[in-house]
Amino acid sequence: KGLVFSGIQPTGIPHLGNYLGALESWVALQDEYSTVMYSIVDLHSITQPQDPQVLRDNIMDMAASLLACGIDPTRSILFQQSQVSEHAELSWILGCLTSMPRLRHLPQWKMKSKQKNEGSVGLYTYPVLQAADILLYKSTHVPVGEDQIQHLELAQDLARIFNNQYGEIFPEPRALLSGTRKVKSLRDPSSKMSKSDPQRFSAVFLNDTPDDIALKIRRAVTDFTSEVTYEPDTRPGVSNLVSMHAAVSGQTVEGVIRLAEGMDTGQYKNMVAEAIIKKLQPIRLEIQRLRADQGYLESLLAQGAEKARSLAAPVMKEVRKLVGFY
Ligand code: ATP
Ligand code: MG
Repeated sequence: KGLVFSGIQPTGIPHLGNYLGALESWVALQDEYSTVMYSIVDLHSITQPQDPQVLRDNIMDMAASLLACGIDPTRSILFQQSQVSEHAELSWILGCLTSMPRLRHLPQWKMKSKQKNEGSVGLYTYPVLQAADILLYKSTHVPVGEDQIQHLELAQDLARIFNNQYGEIFPEPRALLSGTRKVKSLRDPSSKMSKSDPQRFSAVFLNDTPDDIALKIRRAVTDFTSEVTYEPDTRPGVSNLVSMHAAVSGQTVEGVIRLAEGMDTGQYKNMVAEAIIKKLQPIRLEIQRLRADQGYLESLLAQGAEKARSLAAPVMKEVRKLVGFY
């Protein structure tokens, strides 16, 4: 019972962090909830400059990637956010209930406005749109990675604020956190692995070849201690390898550490690469296969948008009435 909603930006092929922090649990949730919605959030992606043709391709890549991971269009509503205009409409209303200081310390803004040393109004209000995405369907459960917790808290606050001001309509959406901790960048283990990170070697992507993966893991930043241990605070680099290894091979961190006993980090990297390759190989081949059938992907997204609109319309009608828009 309940409605699950989550989104992913079409900013490139998903990486291992997206997979372990989000997509793997998205697949499992299809068996547990009556309505499950996954959105390719293209409105969010234009908070950073995008080339229109590249964006089109990225949307198709994302649709293929989600299907390849196991999202099943007969059990989930898979759709493109921009095709349901109610997202933008509700976002405006919620933005009018949000103070400027509330947004200033949220992680997406802090990270991405600093990267470019500037930031648009859209990037600043990104979490408001995210709240609208969630509330528009009266979602009850939101699977997210650890990097999104503070954004979800805003959605919870806005549900409460709207309910108090205009009338009880939104349930409080609850976070479903995956068991995997935030996956870190392979180049800089103090920051998270990110699709839009311009450094090519910072992330393992779902369509990387075995050679790509081996090379990226070999080059992953570790420290000057050769022993393999799990100490995320003092040894973030090697600990990131350990936690990725445990997650892709379905083992505990302790189990993985035991396997690595007597190895130095160089030898251990081969073992980690092998495990990741084994997990991602079938997904890569399936992405390739689906990507060759653009017509199928397009018709699937059209059907998804149709279903999403039919759920959004009655909620938005209720909202408009409560706000006084007759
Ligand atoms: P971008 O750089 O464009 O923001 P991203 O890699 O941060 O891309 P998003 O589309 O913002 O990916 O997020 C999709 C989902 O993946 C979210 O649920 C988010 O919590 C999760 N996620 C993103 N990065 C990580 C990570 N490094 N570790 C675990 N989960 C992650
Ligand atoms: Mg992100």
